[in-house]
Amino acid sequence: MVINQISERIYYLPFDENTDRPNLGYILGNKYSIMIDCGNSPKHLSLFYAGLEERHLPIPQIAFITHWHWDHTFGMEAFNGMTIAGQLTNNKLKEVMQWKWTDQVMEERLASGEEIEFCDENIRKEYKDLSEISVKSADMTFDRSISIDLGGITCIALNCPSPHSKDSVIIYVPEEKILFCGDADSGDFYDNKGQREVERVKQYRDVLMKIPFEVYLHGHCEPVSRKQVFSDLEEMIEGNQNTNFN
Ligand SMILES: [Zn+2]
Repeated sequence: MVINQISERIYYLPFDENTDRPNLGYILGNKYSIMIDCGNSPKHLSLFYAGLEERHLPIPQIAFITHWHWDHTFGMEAFNGMTIAGQLTNNKLKEVMQWKWTDQVMEERLASGEEIEFCDENIRKEYKDLSEISVKSADMTFDRSISIDLGGITCIALNCPSPHSKDSVIIYVPEEKILFCGDADSGDFYDNKGQREVERVKQYRDVLMKIPFEVYLHGHCEPVSRKQVFSDLEEMIEGNQNTNFN
């Protein structure tokens, strides 16, 4: 089985560090099912679809996007349904849609700082043929939050301050007390050299404290407990306060 089950109605395709593929989440409702993020390429998405088929789970009609980064969004073009993103994410996706994907232009973006090395490297590994890259914006957007009743289970997506990316969206499933956070608690590689701004970690922690989740799924890690999340966040706050005064 390539797809793991976390709770009665929640599954995910585990992350793969080889080409920086993130976890792809799946929530099964009586009426609709949803996936969280569309993966870093159509190939990644098709692996997810194959995993669902293997488990006799229906293909999701809806996809939520957690933030604009390529590894979570470049599979959108092959998604067979409606995609939903926060307004900030979609603004950025529209910008990335204008990017050209040739060796030379990618090098220029690296030189100007518009792109970062880690993503450039992994994009080149995932796409042997760069001309296959096709970036799409979402079909539907929301400003602060949106809630969808999937039939017997609900999905709440909310825009959230985070140390990772200013457009971060987290997705909470109250019936199963699971929170999908995208990469929200990671450092900011585009605007802050991979560091976490302490103030943004605190704001993020404060939002999380109001959500009664029990299980937490980061885009590039195994699921962790609520207790673990808060202990990690406190460590980030303490550690940063001692070593980084920016
Ligand atoms: Zn990210």
